[in-house]
Amino acid sequence: MAKKVAFFGLGNMGGPMAANLIKAGFEVCAFDLVPASVQKAVEDGCTAAANEKEAIAGADFVISMLPNGAIAEALYIDGAGLLDLVEPSALLIDCSTVAASSSRRIGEEAKNRNIRAIDAPVSGGVAGAEGATLAFMCGGEATDVEAAKEVLKHMGANIFHAGPAGAGQVAKACNNMLLAVHMIGTAEALQLGVDNGLDPKALSEIMLKSSGCNWSLEKYNPYPGVMEGVPASREYSGGFMVKLMQKDLGLAMEAALASKSATPMGALANNLYNLYATMSDEDNADLDFSSIQRFFD
Ligand code: NAD
Repeated sequence: MAKKVAFFGLGNMGGPMAANLIKAGFEVCAFDLVPASVQKAVEDGCTAAANEKEAIAGADFVISMLPNGAIAEALYIDGAGLLDLVEPSALLIDCSTVAASSSRRIGEEAKNRNIRAIDAPVSGGVAGAEGATLAFMCGGEATDVEAAKEVLKHMGANIFHAGPAGAGQVAKACNNMLLAVHMIGTAEALQLGVDNGLDPKALSEIMLKSSGCNWSLEKYNPYPGVMEGVPASREYSGGFMVKLMQKDLGLAMEAALASKSATPMGALANNLYNLYATMSDEDNADLDFSSIQRFFD
């Protein structure tokens, strides 16, 4: 008999993730506050639930892909209170990007009720969700992460166990803070070269074979006209929006504050993206994050 998944949050990421579970033969019961998202999920083969309680009836897995921690905590604890309603055998997997403190709280409250729960934020964006190539960074008990692979492997290509509850969120915050820092550094170096008469393509080729080589330069060159198929080649549309990078940097700063860690580069990246997001009449926040190149132009 097909295993049953209750899926909460059928947005840009959750929609295609749920569709991949349908393709893999799971029965998926979908719940979202936006009727159009539920409708799309039904077209993909999900059944629609009228409310949270109906969605989790008989569920083997509960997966959520929600906008923020307050919403995730409300779903599991303070609002709908799923932790008190799920089958004791269900495994809860929150794939939303939230503060580590939120995931720790959900993990702790679940443990108090003998419910299995992990945090599993993702990297890979909408393309990764559609192509089932996401990377999952999991926090929780090793045995629960292992059990979660039964569903996660149909939505992603890499599944990592980062540590206890909240560790998945910490890993994601560290990764995206570093991504912001090397994207900004790459844009700054390219502009310095251009301002001094260099061709950005020639400079990119030199740095790719030199010690400045990094992922932003290699896979996601921010200078228009250097690389095909990246957001810089299409006016910075598509890709990973500035506003999502702002959210992730905010979470990294929150983690740094909690652990009293010095993150001067992350703090500068956070400030630059916040400044850049609002500095033009157009909404820079909706552009791809590599458009930070324009800040130096
Ligand atoms: P989205 O806004 O497209 O989707 C979120 C969905 O959650 C919406 O459909 C919304 O109606 C629904 N929702 C809100 N409250 C709800 C509730 N109480 N019950 C059920 N559904 C509810 O956002 P997204 O881009 O899909 O992102 C989801 C999460 O994934 C975020 O935490 C984001 O940071 C993370 N993420 C996004 C990307 C990306 O490229 N979009 C990449 C990696 C991680």
